[in-house]
Amino acid sequence: MGRLQRILHWIWENSPITKSAISQQFGLNIAIVNTQVNELIRWGIVVYEGYATSTGGRKARLIKLNPDLGHFCVLRISRNSLQASLVDINADLIYKQEEYITSLKQKEDLLQKIFKTISDLQKKGDEQNLDIQRIGISIAGLVNSESGVSVAFPRIFDWVDVPLKSLLEEKFSIPTDIDNDIQASTNAIRFKEAQTDECALYVQLGPGIGAGLILNGKVYRSPLEYSGELGHLMVKPDGPLCYCGQAGCLESVASDFALVDTVKYYLQRGSRSIILNEIQSLRELNIQTVQRAAQKKDRLCFRVLDTAGSYIGLGISNLINLFGPETIYIDGSLISTRGEDILLNAVKRNIYMHSLNILGEDFSLRVVKDEQVPLKGAAYLPIKKYLFESIFSKINEK
Ligand SMILES: [Zn+2]
Repeated sequence: MGRLQRILHWIWENSPITKSAISQQFGLNIAIVNTQVNELIRWGIVVYEGYATSTGGRKARLIKLNPDLGHFCVLRISRNSLQASLVDINADLIYKQEEYITSLKQKEDLLQKIFKTISDLQKKGDEQNLDIQRIGISIAGLVNSESGVSVAFPRIFDWVDVPLKSLLEEKFSIPTDIDNDIQASTNAIRFKEAQTDECALYVQLGPGIGAGLILNGKVYRSPLEYSGELGHLMVKPDGPLCYCGQAGCLESVASDFALVDTVKYYLQRGSRSIILNEIQSLRELNIQTVQRAAQKKDRLCFRVLDTAGSYIGLGISNLINLFGPETIYIDGSLISTRGEDILLNAVKRNIYMHSLNILGEDFSLRVVKDEQVPLKGAAYLPIKKYLFESIFSKINEK
């Protein structure tokens, strides 16, 4: 990459930023930075937007990629929901929708749902005159992003080696990128929150449990494409069977589904709980109702969340002892959005109990507040490819 491309790449990764930040990063004097940025503005590649918070003196203008450079259609397919969005080149969401997909049981059903969702997004894009450059999909389960094959999806058993990239490119004639959803979200975290971390963990706690690793400031990707399977770390040797074929995996005792099933199991066997006053039927039981009952000191729900949090804390402390991260970013539906977080308290307690002292004191645990992380993660690969293949080569020609 030439200097201008490197500057542009850095603007993308760190935007919005000021010219003085560029000058510091590249050791260039401000006059040269000015010339380069003006060039990029003249070509319509970057724009000014807003001002940096002032540290005295004149406020510095912020620079970011021009949102009109390109648009992307992105889907995040988790075990129970399909989120879809149109985003611009800064991964800012223009439109967003979400649907629950727990009723879909067959590969063909999910495929048709994906096709329909993309067609709908295309229509939305047309209405707003957006030019869709690429499609980005992040999907739970094993994914080979190189070949674009979704190898396995946790809940749908006939979903085996689905060549999602080529199926979508054939149907929509738009270049498509596929990634595992945790890997994709870790990219989004690295981008906006963990810019200065050399070693960090991103942990997602929800219907599935997974972790992404940032090593030497970069998102780690296994050459075999499969890593971060925190959910399949064994935490209870005599525990229940997991869909992966092992027993006692973290996911089988502490995922969103496992927690709700455990509460249901005890209720069906006559356990007393205030949750019965709050729902009409057991079908209404979900992680939020369990969290609310536990906050009202319901003993069954409290115990179930506390136990799950203990297993999660144990699993995470094993990763801490192995990698020594500076920061752990925690995200997902198991983290309560309001009130006391009983599960998270148990997670923290067990991390401090099981991780080596020196590490336990040195890292920070941060709850991710941005709900858009998974969608921004799905947008990472398509935006990166578009920048490298289209925008950077245009600069070369200029
Ligand atoms: Zn497992």
